[in-house]
Amino acid sequence: MEQKQQQPQQQQQQQQQRQKQRCEKCNKKLIIEYKCKCEKQFCISHLNAEEHSCTFNYKQQYQEIIKKQIDDIGPLSTKVDKI
Ligand SMILES: [Zn+2]
Ligand SMILES: [Zn+2]
Repeated sequence: MEQKQQQPQQQQQQQQQRQKQRCEKCNKKLIIEYKCKCEKQFCISHLNAEEHSCTFNYKQQYQEIIKKQIDDIGPLSTKVDKI
């Protein structure tokens, strides 16, 4: 008869320290998490890209949107509807 010894599993206590979200700009505690596209969190007053010198490339995104819109519309041809 083999007696299976139950080895007490060492429960690794994961230190679940909830990191309090703080604004990267003013270090203010965030009640609601606002996350910018640059993966940083800011308070409502610093969420604006201009307020925290955002590193996200908005220009590129903007250009891509414009490009897409042009593709949808087609080449800008002078469309004149003759009455
Ligand atoms: Zn802030
Ligand atoms: Zn940002």
